[in-house]
Amino acid sequence: MTYNNKYDVVVIGAGPAGYVAAIRCSQLGLKTACIDNWQDKNGKHRPGGTCLNAGCIPSKALLDSSQRFYQVNNELAEHGIKVNKASLNIAQMMARKDNIVHQLSSGISSLLQANNIDLHHGSGQLQENNQIEVMPVDAEAKRYIIEGKNIILATGSQAMNIPAAPIDNHKIVDSTGALSFKEVPKRLAIIGAGVIGLELGSVWNRLGTKVILLEAREDFLPIADRLLASEALRHFISQGLDIRLGARVTSSSIGKKQITVSYQDKQEQKRIVVDRVLVAVGRIPQTKKLFAANVNLLLDEGGGIDVDKYCRTNLPNVYAIGDIVRGPMLAHKGSEEGMSVAETIAGNKNHLNMNLIPAVIYTLPEIAWVGKTEQALLKEDIPFNTGIFPFAANGRAKTMSADTGQVKILSHAETDKILGVHIIGPFASEVLQTAVIAMEFDGSAEDLARSVFAHPSLSEAVHEAALAVDDRAIHVINRV
Ligand code: FAD
Ligand code: NAD
Repeated sequence: MTYNNKYDVVVIGAGPAGYVAAIRCSQLGLKTACIDNWQDKNGKHRPGGTCLNAGCIPSKALLDSSQRFYQVNNELAEHGIKVNKASLNIAQMMARKDNIVHQLSSGISSLLQANNIDLHHGSGQLQENNQIEVMPVDAEAKRYIIEGKNIILATGSQAMNIPAAPIDNHKIVDSTGALSFKEVPKRLAIIGAGVIGLELGSVWNRLGTKVILLEAREDFLPIADRLLASEALRHFISQGLDIRLGARVTSSSIGKKQITVSYQDKQEQKRIVVDRVLVAVGRIPQTKKLFAANVNLLLDEGGGIDVDKYCRTNLPNVYAIGDIVRGPMLAHKGSEEGMSVAETIAGNKNHLNMNLIPAVIYTLPEIAWVGKTEQALLKEDIPFNTGIFPFAANGRAKTMSADTGQVKILSHAETDKILGVHIIGPFASEVLQTAVIAMEFDGSAEDLARSVFAHPSLSEAVHEAALAVDDRAIHVINRV
């Protein structure tokens, strides 16, 4: 394939940050190329990055399948539905997941094509003078140079490794491996009880694995509001997840069939024997081989690319977005940065509000939040009021047998402006969006309290929590 080698914009990486940036650039009339090196096990190019191929989408597909399996065996009797014990076809479950990924990935290829974006399947390396060397994935093909007036780096992140449990992609795996087990492990140790540990731990726990999470920190989910974290911990323990806090893994040894994992907790050195280990201790920005040695691109202390609030690097007309830059490693954060950089390049206003990036953990119940936690407000000495409403008093949640959790709204004590919304409960990911929009419009708790919410709906819990800020929720007994 021959390409015109001069572009207005060249994007390196076709994950949710890169491909979205490329599409928006093209919509704005900029001649755009996108270089991406992802390939599936058959060597086929699959744009969509980690999120689509080995992250957000496959994990949610398995979360859904595993929950259905769990429900059939454990929750249908209550509805008066009698079924014989369901059995598992793990190959079919994985095939469904892969099929969803392939459909979405083909969709992205079509979108890039329809937007006249030249897609280069290879690794891009930034050279001097806005040039990029492309090393095609096809080892037979020659390297070539393309040039962009503007360059957007969007190469994402990769799983962090720890010396105590080196990944062998067979017995000790990262999240990609744990999304593709061919059989249900009897015992799975997960190092790290963060977002990946909890989501994938939930998947395998529901499918019958004994899951043990070894978490180095003493506190559970420190990024979440304390109320949500403590309620979540209770639910996870009752679901059978064995969560060991203050447990720092010191070594592991792979035997013929099993793996011994040693860890240190407050008291002593301990050992567990398991069939598989998932290492989920965080992700690091992917900057390896991204720029030539003579290119003076500035990195930050986390190893990511140093950028300002407009995602500009220290090099003129070179931008960086997504997991390779500061901020939460979330797909939607990367996509929004991609769109806002495209606007900046086109000379338009940058619109991204980094303070309002929603976060979701797709466990059951789901955990979702936006804005400040209560502990952050206390630390920053910002006066606030709190409104809390439990899903136990929400009609729709009751009808769904999903009446655990609560909505918590924090609003400024003087202005009533919403400062943070924290939800644990059914479809918290969807319910939260009401609050994100209210906050984007600088809304107050009173604005939510005066809005009409459909009945019966889960979102009514947001309405009631907003009323509760002023002690006037209807379906709970108020403080005064
Ligand atoms: P990536 O998606 O990593 O894409 C980068 C792309 O660049 C890849 O295709 C890579 O192959 C390519 N690339 C790298 N180097 C080069 C190079 N030199 N040349 C060419 N191409 C290159 N986030 C959420 O918001 N919601 C979720 O539910 C969620 N679930 C997750 C579950 C798991 C198991 C994991 C691992 C992550 C999850 N994430 C989730 C995080 C999310 O996947 C990332 O935040 C997101 O993918 C980052 O997007 P990105 O475009 O910056 O990078
Ligand atoms: P994480 O930062 O969420 O959790 C890692 C955990 O590992 C932390 O709690 C940390 O204390 C612990 N840890 C670190 N070293 C340890 C050690 N030696 N022994 C025991 N515990 C140790 O990271 P993650 O779960 O790997 O996820 C990576 C990224 O992917 C996250 O930043 C997240 O944003 C993203 N992600 C998002 C979603 C989502 O949005 N639903 C889902 C999955 C992943």
